[in-house]
Amino acid sequence: MTQPLSPRVEAVFWLLLTATGYFLLASLALYATKGADNIAAVWPPSGYFLALLLMMPDHRPTRLISFAGMAAASLAANISGGVPIASCFAYTIANGCEAAVALWLIRRREPGELSFMVPRSVAIFCAAALGASAISAALVWTLVGLLTGTTLDFFLSWFTTVLLGMLIVTPPIVMLARMVGTRALGNASTAMKAEATGILTGAALATIVAFTQAHFPLTFLPCMAVVAAAYRLGPFGAAAGMLIVTIITSLLTGQGYGPIAAIEEAPKVKVLFLQFYLLSLLFTTLPLAALLVVRQRLAKRLEQSNRWLLQAEAAALVGHWRVDLIGWTIHWSDQAYRIHGLIPGSPVDVSYSVRQYVAEDGDAVRKILEEAVRTGEPFEFQGRIRRADGEIRHVKSHGSIETGRGGQAVAIFGTVQDVTETVENARILEAARSAAERVANTDMLTGLPNRRHTLAFLEKALAGARDHGAPLAVAIFDIDHFKRINDAHGHATGDRVIHRVAQRAKAALRDEDLVGRIGGEEFVCILQRASAQAAEIVAERMRKAVEAGTAAEDGLPEATISVGLAIYDGEPDVEELLHRADQALYAAKREGRNRLRMAA
Ligand code: GH3
Ligand code: MG
Ligand code: MG
Repeated sequence: MTQPLSPRVEAVFWLLLTATGYFLLASLALYATKGADNIAAVWPPSGYFLALLLMMPDHRPTRLISFAGMAAASLAANISGGVPIASCFAYTIANGCEAAVALWLIRRREPGELSFMVPRSVAIFCAAALGASAISAALVWTLVGLLTGTTLDFFLSWFTTVLLGMLIVTPPIVMLARMVGTRALGNASTAMKAEATGILTGAALATIVAFTQAHFPLTFLPCMAVVAAAYRLGPFGAAAGMLIVTIITSLLTGQGYGPIAAIEEAPKVKVLFLQFYLLSLLFTTLPLAALLVVRQRLAKRLEQSNRWLLQAEAAALVGHWRVDLIGWTIHWSDQAYRIHGLIPGSPVDVSYSVRQYVAEDGDAVRKILEEAVRTGEPFEFQGRIRRADGEIRHVKSHGSIETGRGGQAVAIFGTVQDVTETVENARILEAARSAAERVANTDMLTGLPNRRHTLAFLEKALAGARDHGAPLAVAIFDIDHFKRINDAHGHATGDRVIHRVAQRAKAALRDEDLVGRIGGEEFVCILQRASAQAAEIVAERMRKAVEAGTAAEDGLPEATISVGLAIYDGEPDVEELLHRADQALYAAKREGRNRLRMAA
């Protein structure tokens, strides 16, 4: 951990940094413009000082000391550069004011850290530089005008010189200092550093080639180099490239080299050319770099959203697909591939995706999709696919139709989910439910429908007969003298007799008839769509079957049944119909048993 500096030490640090840097840059700029009638194209100390003010801690005394350092350095540089003493003061006041104005304008809009990576902040910076340069030029014009008398040219020249100084020098210094501070520079890969060095060296060489000779007009070479720097290295590349080009072109042009120096015009026209050249370069590359950063950020966000989508799909086991109806191509998300048992990215086409469905489901799916394309309505389907590994899986899709400008279908978009487990669970649940229902409806001793189920069935049959006018007959039968069987052979044998009677009765009935056990040894037969005559024949056949079958090979005692038969006659409920059948059964018992009686 580095100890934070005490405010006093820090103030001295900023004072020295301001004063020495400002003095060196101002002296250099003045020296470089010696050959050009002391007219500088760019005034780098302005940009340097603004950069320091932007990076300085928000501490008023430090800032004031720094302004004092700047003033001293400015006076010293100008005096030693041979500028008349009154002008030295005027220039220093103007340069000091412009820095204060620029800082105030920037802080007003951007109280936090100014970033050259955000287009809005770059715009704020440019506007502040414009405003500050205009005020500085107006101030110096007034002061110098009062002292010596001056022209509008001087105002314009001062304005562009200071403006370029800020626009070109401030951004690279601030960005470089931040990169060092955040260790971004140290953490950058060797390849990146090598590329940056290569591109910036290229920019320097291109500028030297273009500005050491006037034979070939190669001023486009530095432009290409700075655009390349902006494209590959972003705002820092653009700013650093601009700085390099500015330093080299200013020095060489000031010394009379290069195409601009060769123009046969007054020095101030040449300076104007150089300034225009640098400004056009600046306004081509800086916005380009900032827009590139915005695009890179968008691309990154897009890539992140896409990654989250894929993660969500993988977690939810839901994939997505899209069929382009124009190009007849299909896109599957990674999860869609996995659901289909394929490695993400394998080549697939529309027909392959439809062919994955087992034959009968494939036809249904095709019909649903064709219908959706026709109507433009959302769709949903479920079917079985045979995956690449041969496994059959159930998949479910939901989707919608994408339409073009004219409203015609251009694509089908859908999700796909593997619902095999759900389908399997539903099947098991249904099997369990129907098994439970069977148990609930079945008589355990005979395997016939039990009382509850038989009466419910009769209820429905009666409603059917009433609604459709179809005939319905009900027969109740009871084993004759069953107590005797129980008494003579025991309860267990009695049970087996009941079972045997039930089997015989059932075997004698038609498929559409139902026989159920409604009590100990009492049964009900429901004969649907049977006329009175037919019902009588069936019931009698049943009675005979029981009678004929009991003395069988398994040694069970003989048993007969008595049957009471009632034909539905508009009874309002089953109780009444059953009551009539019961009466007939009593009659059969009374008349000697082992016989059938029709209800009155
Ligand atoms: P009837 O000819 O008049 O019908 O004479 P019955 O002896 O059969 O008289 P009833 O039908 O009233 O007798 C029913 C007897 O059946 C009473 C009971 O002991 C016996 N029983 C009822 N349920 C069962 C059963 O599940 N198993 C056995 N083994 N016997 C039963
Ligand atoms: Mg009985
Ligand atoms: Mg009985």
